[in-house]
This record gives sequence, C-alpha cells and structure tokens, in this order.
Amino acid sequence: MLQTTQTIKKFRRQLLAWYRQNRRDLPWRKTKDPYAIWVSEVMLQQTQVATVIPYYERFMAAFPGVKQLAEAELQKVLKAWEGLGYYARARNLHRAAGIVCSLYDGRVPGDRKLFRDLPGVGNYIAAAVLSIAFDQPMAVVDGNVKRVLARLLQMQAPANAPGFHAEFTKAADLLLDKRVAGDFNQAMMELGALVCTPRLPACNQCPLNDYCLASSSGQANLYPRRLTRPQTPLYRIAVGVVIKNRRLLITQRKPDGLLGGLWEFPGGKIKKGESASAAVLREIKEEVNLSVTVEKRLTQVKHAYTHFKIQMDVFICSYSGGRVKLKGPVDFRWVTVAAMEEFPLPKANHKFLPELKKALSCCGL
Ligand code: SF4
Repeated sequence: MLQTTQTIKKFRRQLLAWYRQNRRDLPWRKTKDPYAIWVSEVMLQQTQVATVIPYYERFMAAFPGVKQLAEAELQKVLKAWEGLGYYARARNLHRAAGIVCSLYDGRVPGDRKLFRDLPGVGNYIAAAVLSIAFDQPMAVVDGNVKRVLARLLQMQAPANAPGFHAEFTKAADLLLDKRVAGDFNQAMMELGALVCTPRLPACNQCPLNDYCLASSSGQANLYPRRLTRPQTPLYRIAVGVVIKNRRLLITQRKPDGLLGGLWEFPGGKIKKGESASAAVLREIKEEVNLSVTVEKRLTQVKHAYTHFKIQMDVFICSYSGGRVKLKGPVDFRWVTVAAMEEFPLPKANHKFLPELKKALSCCGL
C-alpha cells in the first residue's frame, strides 16, 4: 500500500497532521535545547513517559545545562537518577557532559560523528537528539516505531532480535520525511504510544489505517513478530543491615556495571544448599571482613531486572568484631538512618527501607 512516492507523501502528510493535533504536551517538547532533549531521550530509553516526567523536571532544575551537569559530583547525579534504573545511562550522560565542556565549549555537537562518539550515545539517542534538536534527517527506531512499522508493512522480522534491527531501520528510513525529521520521528513514536498500542490498537482512529496491511487483513494483533525468550533466571540473595554504635553499614558498588556507583547493604548470592542466614554471615565476612550476629530476619523482597529476577532475604545484624576490609565494594560508610537518604540506593533496597525504618525506630535508632 505504501509503494509509490505519491502514496508515501500522502502518508507523511496525514501522519504529521495527526501529530500536530494530538501530540501530548510534554515538558521536553517545549524546547529546542539539545541538552534538554538529550536528557529526556536518555531517560525515556526503557522507561515510560509518565515515570520520566517528574525525574526530568527535577534533573533539569538541578542541572539546567551541560556545564552544571559536568561540574556536579557523580553521586549527586546518581541520587537524582535514583529509582529510574539503568544507572549506566546517568554515568554516561555525566561523562559525556564533561567531554562536551572540555572539547566543544559546552555546546552539544550537532555533527553526527562527534555526537555519536560521546559515551552512551547509540543509534537511538543520536537519531532522536539530532533529528529533534538539529533537524538532521535520521530515522528513529524504538519499540513504538518498530510496532507501527511491523503492522503497517506486515514485517516478518522479529522486533526483539537485535539481528533484525537493520530491517526496521531500512523501512523507517524509507518512510522518513527528511524535511521535518524531528516531527516525523516524534509522530511515529507518539502514534505507537497512543494509537498503535501493543494490545488492542485503535485502528478505527488511526490516521494510517488506509495504508496498513495488518489492519486491512485483520491481523494487527499478530504483529510485531517476536522470538520467545528463555525464562529469566531467579537469584536468591541475602543482605545484612549491620548495626554498630547506632549506625548502619553501607557499601558502594564499583563504578561500572549493574547499579555501578550506587550504595547498598552488604550481601550476595545464596549458594545451593545454604540457608539465607548462613549466606548473610558468609557474604559479610567475605565482602567487608566483619563478623556479625544475625538478630532478626526483617523481610523478603522481590525485584526484577531486565535479564534476571532476585528474591532478597533481609536480616538485621549486630556487629561482633573485625575491621572493614573491602573485597568487591569500593567504599563504605557507617551512617545514621537519616543520613542514609542522602546516598543513591538501588530500588531493591528502597523496597524494604520503610520496614527497616519502622523496625529500627522501635530500638530508638
Ligand atoms: Fe497500528 Fe492499526 Fe494504525 Fe495499523 S491501522 S498502524 S495496526 S493502529
């Protein structure tokens, strides 16, 4: 249905007209500032718009420009990101801001190669920021866009297999309105978010219905194709809140990797055949070289990451002996319950904080 140049032109006009009438009034759509657009796009990767809005507003208030972000301590940046997950995004953004200040005088480069070379800038971020802020003719391909394309063109390529990404990029490039690439990309993403939704797409309200192969064959729900993924593994973890002189021990994870730079209570994986309370004693000894006594099992929390899930048993422990020597973590602090709030903690730790505070307030902590 989208085979002639004329039809493609008409398709673009209809999509853009729909977007101009229906687009949501989002805070990052009120600006052309490449830094603000960059921040929003980094946050929007893997995260819903409604979740991002308050984070974006707080982040922009704290770090309104590249310079302020570059000059901020990483801990402050991670604290502002706390709860959004995928912390490598925040660490890369912070590093990239430093490079933009030192190499480009604080101005985000509009040059494709220079921008693409910055830490954390992949194909998606490059296309989104450069098209929206600089009107560069680059097609954005995210999950929403893939879904729209797969249905429009009845594409057989699985949308969740990286090896087929190029097929979607080729289709997106073909349809892209290069004169207004930023608006066109946002229109495709907006259509995927509001109309061509994963379940029950509203085909009867869709501006692309006349061109859509999946809709005309009544098969929209069969697209996009997906490869079935193996089940995500579940890890059992034991962590200990170690108390010494009315203070709690927290440790900092190494700067790279999962949750890099964040602070947490010491602990680790429970071995096969090991009890959770035995694991917490062993892990604390191995990780921070302290001997502790388990006073109480506080709770159990569950948390899902992208590729695995954890089930975490949390214990309150009292310090018995030893000096802290770190193996794994890069830093540690003994903190009061109130001071703990100043450190960026993983979401899994936040899940049991209210219960922990309640338990500790009973002991006057
Ligand atoms: Fe999606 Fe339906 Fe529109 Fe096709 S017609 S793009 S399936 S909402």
